[in-house]
Amino acid sequence: MTSFNDFGLAESILRALAEEKYQTPTPIQAQTIPLALQGRDVIGIAQTGTGKTASFALPILNHIDARRMRPAPKACRALVLAPTRELSGQIADSFRAYGRHIRPLDIALAIGGVSIVPQKRALSRGVEVLVATPGRLLDLVDQRSLRLDQVELLVLDEADRMLDMGFIHAIKRIVAMLPKERQTLFFSATMSGDVTRLSANMLRDPARVSVTPQATTAERVDQRVILTEKASKPALLAEILKAETVDRVLVFTRTKHGADKVVRLLNKAGLAADAIHGNKSQNQRERALAAFRDGRIRTLIATDIAARGIDVDGVSHVVNYDLPNVPESYVHRIGRTARAGREGIAISFCDHEEAAYLRDIERLIRISIPSTDRRTGKRPAAQHAGNGQQGRPNHRGNHQQRGSGGNGGKHRHGTKGHRNHDARQGGRPQAAQPQPQVQRTGSARDEQSGMGNVKFMQRSNEPRRGAGHRTHG
Ligand code: AMP
Repeated sequence: MTSFNDFGLAESILRALAEEKYQTPTPIQAQTIPLALQGRDVIGIAQTGTGKTASFALPILNHIDARRMRPAPKACRALVLAPTRELSGQIADSFRAYGRHIRPLDIALAIGGVSIVPQKRALSRGVEVLVATPGRLLDLVDQRSLRLDQVELLVLDEADRMLDMGFIHAIKRIVAMLPKERQTLFFSATMSGDVTRLSANMLRDPARVSVTPQATTAERVDQRVILTEKASKPALLAEILKAETVDRVLVFTRTKHGADKVVRLLNKAGLAADAIHGNKSQNQRERALAAFRDGRIRTLIATDIAARGIDVDGVSHVVNYDLPNVPESYVHRIGRTARAGREGIAISFCDHEEAAYLRDIERLIRISIPSTDRRTGKRPAAQHAGNGQQGRPNHRGNHQQRGSGGNGGKHRHGTKGHRNHDARQGGRPQAAQPQPQVQRTGSARDEQSGMGNVKFMQRSNEPRRGAGHRTHG
Protein backbone atom coordinates (compact mmCIF):
# COMPACT_ATOMS: atom_id res chain seq x y z
CA MET A 1 0.00 0.00 0.00
CA THR A 2 1.57 3.24 -1.00
CA SER A 3 -1.39 5.51 -0.63
CA PHE A 4 -4.36 5.90 1.68
CA ASN A 5 -6.57 5.81 -1.44
CA ASP A 6 -5.75 2.11 -1.87
CA PHE A 7 -7.56 1.11 1.32
CA GLY A 8 -11.02 1.99 0.08
CA LEU A 9 -11.64 4.42 2.93
CA ALA A 10 -14.60 6.81 2.78
CA GLU A 11 -14.06 10.02 0.87
CA SER A 12 -14.73 12.08 3.99
CA ILE A 13 -11.81 10.35 5.75
CA LEU A 14 -9.46 10.71 2.79
CA ARG A 15 -10.24 14.41 2.70
CA ALA A 16 -9.35 14.77 6.39
CA LEU A 17 -6.09 12.85 5.87
CA ALA A 18 -5.17 15.11 2.99
CA GLU A 19 -5.80 18.10 5.24
CA GLU A 20 -3.60 16.49 7.90
CA LYS A 21 -0.96 16.19 5.14
CA TYR A 22 -0.70 12.44 5.54
CA GLN A 23 0.52 11.11 2.23
CA THR A 24 1.78 7.63 2.86
CA PRO A 25 0.55 5.09 5.40
CA THR A 26 3.13 4.11 8.01
CA PRO A 27 4.01 0.39 8.20
CA ILE A 28 1.60 -0.30 11.07
CA GLN A 29 -1.15 1.49 9.16
CA ALA A 30 -0.36 -0.34 5.93
CA GLN A 31 -0.63 -3.67 7.72
CA THR A 32 -3.49 -3.04 10.12
CA ILE A 33 -6.00 -0.98 8.16
CA PRO A 34 -6.83 -3.57 5.44
CA LEU A 35 -7.29 -6.32 8.04
CA ALA A 36 -9.42 -4.14 10.28
CA LEU A 37 -11.54 -3.04 7.32
CA GLN A 38 -12.23 -6.72 6.58
CA GLY A 39 -13.61 -7.01 10.11
CA ARG A 40 -10.72 -9.09 11.46
CA ASP A 41 -9.52 -8.90 15.05
CA VAL A 42 -5.93 -7.66 15.08
CA ILE A 43 -3.02 -7.81 17.50
CA GLY A 44 -0.68 -4.96 16.63
CA ILE A 45 2.75 -4.85 18.14
CA ALA A 46 3.78 -1.24 17.82
CA GLN A 47 4.83 1.66 19.93
CA THR A 48 3.52 5.18 20.16
CA GLY A 49 5.11 7.26 17.44
CA THR A 50 4.59 4.65 14.73
CA GLY A 51 1.22 6.04 13.67
CA LYS A 52 -0.73 3.30 15.42
CA THR A 53 -3.56 5.63 16.48
CA ALA A 54 -4.63 6.13 12.88
CA SER A 55 -4.26 2.41 12.24
CA PHE A 56 -7.25 1.78 14.50
CA ALA A 57 -9.02 5.13 14.26
CA LEU A 58 -9.40 5.09 10.47
CA PRO A 59 -11.09 1.66 10.20
CA ILE A 60 -13.38 2.57 13.11
CA LEU A 61 -14.37 5.85 11.51
CA ASN A 62 -14.91 4.06 8.20
CA HIS A 63 -17.20 1.54 9.89
CA ILE A 64 -19.19 4.32 11.54
CA ASP A 65 -19.46 6.21 8.28
CA ALA A 66 -20.58 3.12 6.36
CA ARG A 67 -23.17 2.02 8.92
CA ARG A 68 -24.75 5.15 10.21
CA MET A 69 -27.14 4.67 13.10
CA ARG A 70 -27.91 6.72 16.12
CA PRO A 71 -26.20 5.26 19.22
CA ALA A 72 -28.54 4.25 22.03
CA PRO A 73 -28.65 6.60 25.06
CA LYS A 74 -25.64 6.09 27.37
CA ALA A 75 -24.06 3.73 24.84
CA CYS A 76 -21.04 3.94 22.58
CA ARG A 77 -20.42 2.19 19.25
CA ALA A 78 -16.63 2.14 19.51
CA LEU A 79 -14.74 1.95 22.78
CA VAL A 80 -11.03 2.74 23.03
CA LEU A 81 -9.28 1.91 26.30
CA ALA A 82 -5.95 3.57 26.99
CA PRO A 83 -3.76 3.55 30.10
CA THR A 84 -3.26 7.25 30.73
CA ARG A 85 -5.26 10.43 30.62
CA GLU A 86 -2.77 12.09 28.31
CA LEU A 87 -2.81 9.28 25.79
CA SER A 88 -6.61 9.11 25.93
CA GLY A 89 -6.83 12.82 25.19
CA GLN A 90 -4.48 12.46 22.25
CA ILE A 91 -6.46 9.54 20.85
CA ALA A 92 -9.72 11.51 21.11
CA ASP A 93 -8.04 14.42 19.32
CA SER A 94 -6.92 12.10 16.54
CA PHE A 95 -10.47 10.77 16.10
CA ARG A 96 -11.71 14.35 15.90
CA ALA A 97 -9.10 15.24 13.31
CA TYR A 98 -9.60 12.19 11.08
CA GLY A 99 -13.38 12.26 11.53
CA ARG A 100 -13.92 15.98 11.05
CA HIS A 101 -16.00 15.48 7.89
CA ILE A 102 -18.18 12.69 9.27
CA ARG A 103 -21.54 13.85 10.60
CA PRO A 104 -22.94 13.11 13.04
CA LEU A 105 -19.91 12.01 15.05
CA ASP A 106 -19.87 12.37 18.80
CA ILE A 107 -16.58 11.57 20.48
CA ALA A 108 -16.40 11.48 24.27
CA LEU A 109 -13.48 11.27 26.65
CA ALA A 110 -13.80 9.53 30.02
CA ILE A 111 -10.70 10.04 32.14
CA GLY A 112 -10.04 10.39 35.84
CA GLY A 113 -8.70 13.48 37.59
CA VAL A 114 -11.46 15.72 36.24
CA SER A 115 -15.15 16.09 37.07
CA ILE A 116 -17.33 13.16 36.06
CA VAL A 117 -20.40 15.35 35.57
CA PRO A 118 -19.64 16.69 32.06
CA GLN A 119 -18.66 13.16 31.03
CA LYS A 120 -22.06 11.84 32.12
CA ARG A 121 -23.71 14.64 30.20
CA ALA A 122 -21.67 13.88 27.09
CA LEU A 123 -22.69 10.24 27.25
CA SER A 124 -26.37 10.74 28.01
CA ARG A 125 -27.52 10.69 24.39
CA GLY A 126 -24.97 8.08 23.36
CA VAL A 127 -21.79 8.59 21.35
CA GLU A 128 -20.11 7.03 18.36
CA VAL A 129 -16.65 6.88 19.95
CA LEU A 130 -15.69 6.76 23.61
CA VAL A 131 -12.03 6.97 24.63
CA ALA A 132 -11.51 6.06 28.26
CA THR A 133 -9.13 5.03 30.98
CA PRO A 134 -10.40 1.86 32.70
CA GLY A 135 -11.02 3.28 36.20
CA ARG A 136 -13.23 6.16 35.13
CA LEU A 137 -15.02 3.98 32.64
CA LEU A 138 -16.05 1.62 35.42
CA ASP A 139 -17.14 4.55 37.60
CA LEU A 140 -19.45 5.64 34.81
CA VAL A 141 -20.82 2.13 34.43
CA ASP A 142 -21.30 1.77 38.19
CA GLN A 143 -23.15 5.08 38.30
CA ARG A 144 -25.40 3.86 35.47
CA SER A 145 -24.27 6.62 33.16
CA LEU A 146 -22.78 4.23 30.60
CA ARG A 147 -23.81 0.88 29.14
CA LEU A 148 -21.38 -1.30 27.26
CA ASP A 149 -23.76 -3.76 25.61
CA GLN A 150 -23.81 -1.88 22.30
CA VAL A 151 -20.07 -1.78 21.63
CA GLU A 152 -19.35 -2.87 18.06
CA LEU A 153 -15.62 -2.16 18.10
CA LEU A 154 -13.15 -2.33 20.96
CA VAL A 155 -9.58 -1.06 21.01
CA LEU A 156 -7.18 -1.85 23.80
CA ASP A 157 -4.22 0.46 23.40
CA GLU A 158 -0.85 -0.05 25.11
CA ALA A 159 -1.99 -3.30 26.68
CA ASP A 160 1.42 -3.94 28.23
CA ARG A 161 1.32 -0.65 30.06
CA MET A 162 -2.25 -1.31 31.18
CA LEU A 163 -1.05 -4.48 32.85
CA ASP A 164 1.97 -2.72 34.35
CA MET A 165 -0.41 -0.20 35.84
CA GLY A 166 -2.52 -2.91 37.45
CA PHE A 167 -5.58 -2.54 35.23
CA ILE A 168 -5.97 -6.25 34.61
CA HIS A 169 -9.07 -6.68 36.80
CA ALA A 170 -10.69 -3.54 35.47
CA ILE A 171 -10.10 -4.70 31.90
CA LYS A 172 -11.55 -8.13 32.60
CA ARG A 173 -14.63 -6.57 34.17
CA ILE A 174 -15.08 -4.28 31.21
CA VAL A 175 -14.62 -7.05 28.63
CA ALA A 176 -17.19 -9.21 30.42
CA MET A 177 -19.79 -6.48 29.85
CA LEU A 178 -19.14 -6.18 26.12
CA PRO A 179 -21.11 -8.05 23.47
CA LYS A 180 -19.37 -11.22 22.28
CA GLU A 181 -20.10 -10.18 18.70
CA ARG A 182 -17.65 -7.35 18.24
CA GLN A 183 -14.39 -6.52 16.54
CA THR A 184 -11.34 -6.10 18.74
CA LEU A 185 -8.08 -4.35 17.92
CA PHE A 186 -5.38 -4.94 20.48
CA PHE A 187 -2.13 -2.95 20.62
CA SER A 188 0.92 -3.44 22.72
CA ALA A 189 4.57 -2.42 22.45
CA THR A 190 5.66 -5.73 23.93
CA MET A 191 4.09 -9.18 24.11
CA SER A 192 4.91 -10.68 27.48
CA GLY A 193 3.22 -13.85 28.73
CA ASP A 194 0.61 -11.78 30.58
CA VAL A 195 -0.20 -9.69 27.53
CA THR A 196 -0.51 -12.82 25.38
CA ARG A 197 -2.86 -14.42 27.92
CA LEU A 198 -4.99 -11.30 28.05
CA SER A 199 -5.19 -11.13 24.26
CA ALA A 200 -6.17 -14.81 24.06
CA ASN A 201 -9.24 -14.08 26.17
CA MET A 202 -10.28 -11.02 24.24
CA LEU A 203 -9.70 -11.74 20.56
CA ARG A 204 -11.18 -14.09 18.01
CA ASP A 205 -8.80 -15.61 15.48
CA PRO A 206 -6.68 -12.46 15.45
CA ALA A 207 -4.31 -11.46 12.68
CA ARG A 208 -0.96 -10.45 14.06
CA VAL A 209 0.96 -7.47 12.74
CA SER A 210 4.18 -6.04 14.03
CA VAL A 211 6.50 -3.15 13.33
CA THR A 212 9.99 -2.39 14.58
CA PRO A 213 10.60 -5.12 17.09
CA GLN A 214 10.66 -3.53 20.48
CA ALA A 215 14.32 -3.98 21.19
CA THR A 216 15.43 -2.30 17.98
CA THR A 217 13.59 1.00 18.29
CA ALA A 218 16.66 2.07 20.19
CA GLU A 219 18.77 2.07 17.10
CA ARG A 220 17.77 5.49 15.86
CA VAL A 221 18.80 7.07 19.13
CA ASP A 222 22.33 8.16 19.95
CA GLN A 223 22.78 6.57 23.35
CA ARG A 224 25.36 7.28 26.01
CA VAL A 225 25.88 6.19 29.56
CA ILE A 226 27.60 8.28 32.21
CA LEU A 227 28.89 6.33 35.16
CA THR A 228 28.49 8.47 38.19
CA GLU A 229 27.98 8.46 41.89
CA LYS A 230 24.41 8.97 43.02
CA ALA A 231 25.28 12.19 44.83
CA SER A 232 26.77 13.71 41.68
CA LYS A 233 23.66 13.27 39.55
CA PRO A 234 22.11 16.72 40.20
CA ALA A 235 25.29 18.57 39.24
CA LEU A 236 25.75 16.33 36.22
CA LEU A 237 22.23 17.04 35.01
CA ALA A 238 22.69 20.78 35.39
CA GLU A 239 25.97 20.51 33.51
CA ILE A 240 24.35 18.64 30.63
CA LEU A 241 21.46 21.07 30.41
CA LYS A 242 23.87 23.96 30.23
CA ALA A 243 26.38 22.36 27.86
CA GLU A 244 24.29 20.45 25.35
CA THR A 245 22.29 22.10 22.63
CA VAL A 246 19.05 20.96 24.07
CA ASP A 247 15.76 21.81 22.37
CA ARG A 248 13.50 19.81 24.60
CA VAL A 249 14.67 17.37 27.20
CA LEU A 250 12.62 14.78 29.00
CA VAL A 251 14.26 13.66 32.23
CA PHE A 252 13.13 10.36 33.74
CA THR A 253 13.17 9.53 37.40
CA ARG A 254 12.03 6.29 38.96
CA THR A 255 9.76 7.89 41.55
CA LYS A 256 7.36 10.82 41.82
CA HIS A 257 9.27 12.09 44.80
CA GLY A 258 12.49 11.90 42.78
CA ALA A 259 10.88 13.92 40.00
CA ASP A 260 9.92 16.72 42.37
CA LYS A 261 13.38 16.69 43.88
CA VAL A 262 15.04 17.12 40.49
CA VAL A 263 12.75 20.05 39.69
CA ARG A 264 13.76 21.73 42.94
CA LEU A 265 17.46 21.11 42.33
CA LEU A 266 17.29 22.48 38.80
CA ASN A 267 15.31 25.52 39.87
CA LYS A 268 17.94 26.16 42.51
CA ALA A 269 20.61 25.99 39.79
CA GLY A 270 18.65 28.63 37.87
CA LEU A 271 17.16 26.20 35.34
CA ALA A 272 13.43 26.24 34.61
CA ALA A 273 11.83 22.81 34.80
CA ASP A 274 8.51 21.23 35.66
CA ALA A 275 7.40 17.71 36.47
CA ILE A 276 4.51 15.47 35.48
CA HIS A 277 3.59 12.44 37.50
CA GLY A 278 0.61 10.71 39.03
CA ASN A 279 0.45 12.96 42.09
CA LYS A 280 -0.12 16.05 40.00
CA SER A 281 -3.64 17.10 39.17
CA GLN A 282 -4.83 16.79 35.61
CA ASN A 283 -4.67 20.59 35.27
CA GLN A 284 -1.09 20.72 36.51
CA ARG A 285 -0.08 17.97 34.12
CA GLU A 286 -1.75 19.61 31.19
CA ARG A 287 -0.21 22.97 32.02
CA ALA A 288 3.28 21.48 32.29
CA LEU A 289 2.83 19.55 29.08
CA ALA A 290 1.55 22.59 27.20
CA ALA A 291 4.51 24.66 28.40
CA PHE A 292 6.85 21.90 27.29
CA ARG A 293 5.14 21.57 23.92
CA ASP A 294 5.23 25.23 23.07
CA GLY A 295 8.78 25.68 24.32
CA ARG A 296 8.17 27.77 27.43
CA ILE A 297 10.01 25.14 29.45
CA ARG A 298 12.76 23.10 27.89
CA THR A 299 13.02 20.55 30.65
CA LEU A 300 10.26 18.24 31.79
CA ILE A 301 10.82 15.68 34.51
CA ALA A 302 8.62 12.61 34.32
CA THR A 303 8.04 9.19 35.74
CA ASP A 304 7.57 6.28 33.35
CA ILE A 305 3.84 6.09 33.70
CA ALA A 306 3.18 9.80 33.34
CA ALA A 307 5.37 10.02 30.25
CA ARG A 308 3.89 7.08 28.48
CA GLY A 309 2.03 8.14 25.41
CA ILE A 310 3.07 11.76 25.50
CA ASP A 311 3.00 12.87 21.92
CA VAL A 312 5.50 15.69 21.79
CA ASP A 313 7.59 15.91 18.68
CA GLY A 314 11.00 17.53 18.83
CA VAL A 315 12.25 16.03 22.10
CA SER A 316 15.97 16.34 21.37
CA HIS A 317 17.20 14.61 24.52
CA VAL A 318 16.06 12.02 26.96
CA VAL A 319 17.99 11.86 30.21
CA ASN A 320 17.62 8.83 32.40
CA TYR A 321 18.38 10.40 35.72
CA ASP A 322 17.63 7.01 37.20
CA LEU A 323 17.86 3.87 35.14
CA PRO A 324 14.60 1.93 35.06
CA ASN A 325 14.60 -1.48 36.71
CA VAL A 326 12.40 -2.85 33.93
CA PRO A 327 14.57 -2.89 30.79
CA GLU A 328 11.59 -2.43 28.44
CA SER A 329 10.95 0.92 30.12
CA TYR A 330 14.33 2.07 28.85
CA VAL A 331 13.19 1.45 25.30
CA HIS A 332 9.92 3.28 25.94
CA ARG A 333 11.77 6.17 27.50
CA ILE A 334 14.30 6.71 24.76
CA GLY A 335 11.51 6.28 22.23
CA ARG A 336 10.22 9.67 23.43
CA THR A 337 13.07 11.18 21.44
CA ALA A 338 13.73 10.19 17.84
CA ARG A 339 9.99 10.45 17.32
CA ALA A 340 8.38 11.01 14.00
CA GLY A 341 11.45 9.84 12.14
CA ARG A 342 13.90 12.21 13.78
CA GLU A 343 17.02 11.28 15.62
CA GLY A 344 17.61 11.97 19.26
CA ILE A 345 20.08 11.65 22.06
CA ALA A 346 19.58 9.57 25.18
CA ILE A 347 21.92 10.04 28.13
CA SER A 348 21.67 7.66 31.06
CA PHE A 349 23.17 8.15 34.47
CA CYS A 350 24.27 4.92 36.04
CA ASP A 351 25.36 4.71 39.63
CA HIS A 352 26.83 1.70 41.36
CA GLU A 353 23.45 0.30 42.37
CA GLU A 354 22.12 0.58 38.84
CA ALA A 355 24.87 -1.40 37.11
CA ALA A 356 22.73 -4.51 36.98
CA TYR A 357 19.89 -2.55 35.36
CA LEU A 358 22.28 -1.34 32.70
CA ARG A 359 23.36 -4.88 31.97
CA ASP A 360 19.73 -5.98 31.55
CA ILE A 361 19.04 -3.05 29.23
CA GLU A 362 22.05 -3.78 27.05
CA ARG A 363 21.06 -7.40 26.87
CA LEU A 364 17.56 -6.43 25.71
CA ILE A 365 18.62 -3.89 23.10
CA ARG A 366 21.67 -5.92 22.07
CA ILE A 367 23.75 -2.80 22.00
CA SER A 368 26.72 -1.92 24.12
CA ILE A 369 26.06 1.69 25.00
CA PRO A 370 29.16 3.92 24.86
CA SER A 371 30.00 5.15 28.31
CA THR A 372 31.94 7.86 30.06
CA ASP A 373 33.22 7.38 33.57
CA ARG A 374 32.62 10.37 35.79
CA ARG A 375 32.99 8.58 39.09
CA THR A 376 35.43 10.21 41.39
CA GLY A 377 36.41 7.27 43.55
CA LYS A 378 37.66 5.15 40.67
CA ARG A 379 39.76 2.19 41.46
CA PRO A 380 43.06 1.88 39.60
CA ALA A 381 42.85 -0.18 36.45
CA ALA A 382 45.63 -2.48 37.63
CA GLN A 383 43.30 -3.86 40.25
CA HIS A 384 41.36 -5.74 37.62
CA ALA A 385 44.23 -6.71 35.35
CA GLY A 386 44.80 -10.36 34.70
CA ASN A 387 41.68 -11.68 36.36
CA GLY A 388 40.23 -12.75 33.08
CA GLN A 389 37.02 -10.92 33.91
CA GLN A 390 37.71 -7.55 32.47
CA GLY A 391 34.65 -5.72 31.42
CA ARG A 392 32.35 -8.56 32.36
CA PRO A 393 29.65 -8.28 34.90
CA ASN A 394 30.78 -9.90 38.12
CA HIS A 395 28.72 -12.37 40.06
CA ARG A 396 26.74 -9.63 41.77
CA GLY A 397 25.72 -8.27 38.43
CA ASN A 398 27.97 -5.25 38.80
CA HIS A 399 30.16 -4.17 35.99
CA GLN A 400 33.82 -3.93 36.46
CA GLN A 401 35.56 -0.94 35.22
CA ARG A 402 37.88 -1.33 32.35
CA GLY A 403 41.24 0.35 32.61
CA SER A 404 41.45 3.59 30.74
CA GLY A 405 44.83 2.86 29.21
CA GLY A 406 45.66 0.66 26.24
CA ASN A 407 42.81 0.15 23.88
CA GLY A 408 40.31 1.12 26.48
CA GLY A 409 39.44 4.41 24.87
CA LYS A 410 38.78 2.89 21.46
CA HIS A 411 35.26 1.84 20.89
CA ARG A 412 34.67 0.15 17.64
CA HIS A 413 31.62 1.53 15.98
CA GLY A 414 29.00 -0.74 14.60
CA THR A 415 27.43 -0.29 11.23
CA LYS A 416 24.82 2.37 10.87
CA GLY A 417 23.47 0.67 7.80
CA HIS A 418 20.16 0.07 9.50
CA ARG A 419 19.36 3.74 9.65
CA ASN A 420 16.98 4.42 6.89
CA HIS A 421 17.08 8.18 6.45
CA ASP A 422 15.74 8.13 2.93
CA ALA A 423 12.56 6.39 3.85
CA ARG A 424 11.57 9.06 6.34
CA GLN A 425 8.80 11.44 5.54
CA GLY A 426 9.96 14.86 6.58
CA GLY A 427 9.57 14.69 10.33
CA ARG A 428 6.75 12.18 10.19
CA PRO A 429 6.80 8.52 11.06
CA GLN A 430 8.51 6.38 8.56
CA ALA A 431 6.15 5.46 5.78
CA ALA A 432 5.66 1.93 4.55
CA GLN A 433 8.61 1.22 2.36
CA PRO A 434 10.54 -1.92 1.84
CA GLN A 435 12.24 -2.07 5.20
CA PRO A 436 15.86 -3.10 5.32
CA GLN A 437 16.10 -6.26 7.30
CA VAL A 438 18.77 -5.75 9.87
CA GLN A 439 20.61 -8.53 11.56
CA ARG A 440 19.51 -8.09 15.14
CA THR A 441 21.68 -10.65 16.79
CA GLY A 442 24.54 -9.74 19.06
CA SER A 443 28.16 -10.21 18.26
CA ALA A 444 30.01 -13.46 18.47
CA ARG A 445 31.38 -12.47 21.83
CA ASP A 446 27.93 -11.55 23.07
CA GLU A 447 26.82 -15.02 22.20
CA GLN A 448 29.78 -16.57 23.92
CA SER A 449 29.16 -14.78 27.16
CA GLY A 450 25.42 -15.03 26.82
CA MET A 451 25.03 -11.28 27.07
CA GLY A 452 26.25 -8.07 25.54
CA ASN A 453 29.43 -7.32 27.41
CA VAL A 454 29.36 -3.98 29.03
CA LYS A 455 32.49 -2.03 28.61
CA PHE A 456 33.13 0.93 30.79
CA MET A 457 35.53 3.07 28.99
CA GLN A 458 37.05 6.46 29.42
CA ARG A 459 35.96 8.26 26.33
CA SER A 460 37.36 11.62 25.53
CA ASN A 461 35.72 12.00 22.19
CA GLU A 462 32.24 10.63 22.07
CA PRO A 463 30.36 10.70 18.83
CA ARG A 464 27.76 13.45 18.74
CA ARG A 465 25.46 11.41 16.59
CA GLY A 466 25.03 7.83 15.77
CA ALA A 467 23.05 4.93 16.90
CA GLY A 468 24.16 2.88 19.84
CA HIS A 469 27.21 0.97 18.91
CA ARG A 470 27.29 -2.71 18.56
CA THR A 471 30.14 -4.54 20.06
CA HIS A 472 32.20 -6.47 17.61
CA GLY A 473 34.15 -9.13 19.35
P1 AMP B 1 0.94 7.83 16.91
O1 AMP B 1 1.94 6.71 16.89
O2 AMP B 1 -0.40 7.38 16.49
O3 AMP B 1 0.95 8.55 18.23
O4 AMP B 1 1.41 8.90 15.79
C1 AMP B 1 2.58 9.66 15.88
C2 AMP B 1 2.52 10.95 15.07
O5 AMP B 1 2.58 10.68 13.67
C3 AMP B 1 1.27 11.77 15.27
O6 AMP B 1 1.68 13.11 15.41
C4 AMP B 1 0.46 11.58 13.99
O7 AMP B 1 -0.29 12.72 13.70
C5 AMP B 1 1.54 11.36 12.95
N1 AMP B 1 1.15 10.45 11.85
C6 AMP B 1 0.49 9.27 11.97
N2 AMP B 1 0.33 8.69 10.77
C7 AMP B 1 0.91 9.47 9.86
C8 AMP B 1 1.09 9.38 8.42
N3 AMP B 1 0.64 8.36 7.71
N4 AMP B 1 1.74 10.38 7.82
C9 AMP B 1 2.20 11.42 8.54
N5 AMP B 1 2.07 11.57 9.87
C10 AMP B 1 1.44 10.61 10.54
